[in-house]
Amino acid sequence: MLGPFVRARVSGLLIRGATIVDARGERSGDVRVRDGRIVEVGDVRSEADERVLAANGWFLTPGLIDCHIHLCHQAGPDPRVIAGKTDTQLATEAAEAARRTLHAGVTTARDCGGRGFVETQLRDAIRAGTVEGPRLLTSGHPIVRRGGHMSYYARQIDGPEDAHAAAREQIAGGVDWLKVAATGGVTTPNVDPRRAELTEEEIRAVVDEGRRAGRPAAAHAHGGDGIRNALEAGVRSIEHGTYADDDMIRFMVQHGVFLVPTLIATRAMIDAGTAKGVPEYAVKKAAEIDGERRKSFARCVARGVKIAMGTDAGTPFNPHGENARELELMVEAGMTPAQALEASTVTAAKLLGLEGEFGLIEEGYAADLLVISKNPLDDTIVFRRDLQAVVRSGRVIRT
Ligand SMILES: [Zn+2]
Repeated sequence: MLGPFVRARVSGLLIRGATIVDARGERSGDVRVRDGRIVEVGDVRSEADERVLAANGWFLTPGLIDCHIHLCHQAGPDPRVIAGKTDTQLATEAAEAARRTLHAGVTTARDCGGRGFVETQLRDAIRAGTVEGPRLLTSGHPIVRRGGHMSYYARQIDGPEDAHAAAREQIAGGVDWLKVAATGGVTTPNVDPRRAELTEEEIRAVVDEGRRAGRPAAAHAHGGDGIRNALEAGVRSIEHGTYADDDMIRFMVQHGVFLVPTLIATRAMIDAGTAKGVPEYAVKKAAEIDGERRKSFARCVARGVKIAMGTDAGTPFNPHGENARELELMVEAGMTPAQALEASTVTAAKLLGLEGEFGLIEEGYAADLLVISKNPLDDTIVFRRDLQAVVRSGRVIRT
C-alpha cells in the first residue's frame, strides 16, 4: 500500500558498490542518477530522497545501442508476411517487440525499415511514455529499386527523380534516418546480394535530400559494386558490408563511414534452415555469404573501420530481445569483449549522433545502465544470461 506513496517521494537513484565497465575501462564507483541523468560517479554518500540499488560485487555497463533492428518484422521464417498485415497488427506486435528489446538491455535502437510509419509513431509513443521501449531512431520505408530487395514492403523507386520524392516522403513521415538498398539481399527471392540494385545517382539523390533535412542515410550493401555506389554517394553507414575490399575499407576509414555488421542475421537463418520453414533461396544465400561476412568484419576491425553493433532483429529466427547475441558473434569473429562493448555503446552512439550523451558512465550522460552479476569483459554472454536490471533514463525497468 505504501509503495506508490513512497516512490512518489523518491526523486533519485543511487547504484552502489558495482564495478563500472564501459569503453573507458573498469573502475569501482557508486552512480547517482537524477532526472534521467548521471550526476555523480565515485564514492557517493546516500541521501534520504533516493532509492538505493545495492550492486556490490556486480557490474554496471552503459545500456546497449542496437543500430539495426526492424520492429515491424517478427522473426518468422519468411519476412514477406509483413505484406499481409494491417497497420494495427504491425503496431501491436512492434510495441511488444520494443518492450522485449528494452528488457534485453537495449536502451537505444535505430529501426532500419518498417511500413506505414508504424515504427516512427511507436517511437513517439515511447518518447511520450505510453509504450515501454528503447529510445528509437527510425527510417521509415526502405528505399529500393523497383522489384528489388525488400520491395514487398519498401518504397520502390525508378530513377533519381523518384529517389528524391521517396526520400521526401520518408522525411515528411517524421523519420530520423533514410535507408536505401544498394544491393540485393538474402530474404527476398530473385535478387542477388552480390549485385548492385540502386544506382549511385539514385543513392546520391536520397543522401542529398537527407543532408538538407539533417537525416543521414544508411545503406544495405553486400556486394562490392553496391558498397562502392553507396560510399561514393555519401552514406554514413554500410549495413552488412559482406564483400568490402581493400579500397572500400580504406574509403570507410578515411571518410569515417561506419560498418554495422549484423553477423547474427545470416547465422540465425542457417541454424533454423528449411526444416523450420526458412525459404530455400534464403538459406542458400545466407550460407553463401556467411563466411565472407565474418572475414570482411575481421578485416574491417583490423584496419580500424568504426564498427557499430546492429542485429537486424526481426529477420528470420533473429527475435527481438536476443540482441546481445550479436556481441558473442562479434567476439567469435575476432573482437575482444571490450571492443564488442565499445561497438555496442560509444561507437554506436557516435553513428547515431548521440555521442557525448550516451554510451559512457560519466557525469552528464543519460542514465541508461545495465546491472549485470558477472563481468562482461570475461564473456559477453553475461548480457543475456546474467542481466539483473535495466535502467532507462533513470528508471529501473527490471530487477
Ligand atoms: Zn535489415
